[in-house]
Amino acid sequence: MNVPLLDLKSQYASIKQDIQVVLEEVCEEQSLILGTHVQNLEQTLASYIGTDHAIGVASGSDALLLSLMEVGVQPGDRVVTVPFTFFASAGVISRLHARPVFVDVTPDTFNLDSTRLADSLTSDVKAILPIHLFGQCADMETILQIADARGIPVIEDACQAIGAARNGVRAGAFGRTGGFSFFPSKNLGGFGDGGLITTRDPLVAERLQLLRVHGSRSEYHHHLIGMNSRLDALQAAILHVKFQYLAEWTAKRQAHAASYRQLFQACGLDERVTVPIVASGNSHVYNQFTIRTRQRDELSAYLTHHGIGNRIYYPVPLHLQECYQDLGYRKGDFPVSEQLSQEVLSLPIYPELTQDQLQYVVDTIKAFLNK
Ligand SMILES: *Cc1c(COP(=O)(O)O)cnc(C)c1O
Repeated sequence: MNVPLLDLKSQYASIKQDIQVVLEEVCEEQSLILGTHVQNLEQTLASYIGTDHAIGVASGSDALLLSLMEVGVQPGDRVVTVPFTFFASAGVISRLHARPVFVDVTPDTFNLDSTRLADSLTSDVKAILPIHLFGQCADMETILQIADARGIPVIEDACQAIGAARNGVRAGAFGRTGGFSFFPSKNLGGFGDGGLITTRDPLVAERLQLLRVHGSRSEYHHHLIGMNSRLDALQAAILHVKFQYLAEWTAKRQAHAASYRQLFQACGLDERVTVPIVASGNSHVYNQFTIRTRQRDELSAYLTHHGIGNRIYYPVPLHLQECYQDLGYRKGDFPVSEQLSQEVLSLPIYPELTQDQLQYVVDTIKAFLNK
């Protein structure tokens, strides 16, 4: 049996007719950048996420970069984030010549350890950028309480967490802004790059709308120094079609996660393999189903050999990346992130996965551990 990590072809096959209709429509219209398809998607997603405003941009990375620009992050400023995430979360801080300041994550949720946040907040910290990693919200109540008390804006990296919620509030609706990615492997993926920023604040929304078009309020009149970061009509039209299935796909991911848990438990593997822990109040959307094991590299090779897709998100914590040597961090500075990068392994959890495939993944892991 073959179980890929993700199967976008089978997803496309299931929605091909709907997609073809909108492709044809956009091709005939030849109105290709921003426009009504983008506005429709922005309205739909703003109301789904529970913010009044959403701004379509060119990628998830740009959603975070523009959010930092909107806050006014300057060279030399500090922005607090975590070292256990995709590079973009910190890369956007450096792009503005600001300095990423890392706070370690918790070993259970893999998200920012809010008990360590206050200590990192020196007076030159201009923003806090927590990540909702793998599809589960960070401890936003505590983070916002600490940030609000000091007047520091919070920018959520919700790129992996569209539809995730915590105590009834959706990812992207907590902070000043939330950044989403439509990279094809995300829970709502386009046919290329794309991103979205959510905000409840109309003034923030207005500035972001300017920043994505070189700060221009009317053509060739520039109010702010922005950049070119717009969402294509084609992507927006495709994403709008795919959004109709998001709830169903998310429910399937959640059902697969429940099956994994049951299967691991039934064969007693839950003691040797740590399955994802969902914090109380969280609704996890499982962009990834990430287990932990000490024999990670051997297990990864074994699964690959047996036709099972798997991936290490992420093998090197950001404070130990070559490009961040000049930040002056050392091995041992963030022990939880370092240990996770040695132990995590993401398994297939895409919606189209069958029960037989799930069973095969668990049986193969069992065979490996009983070798
Ligand atoms: C995907 C992702 C991004 C960046 O999104 P792109 O659309 O690829 O630029 C940022 N942060 C996290 C946590 C991501 O998973």
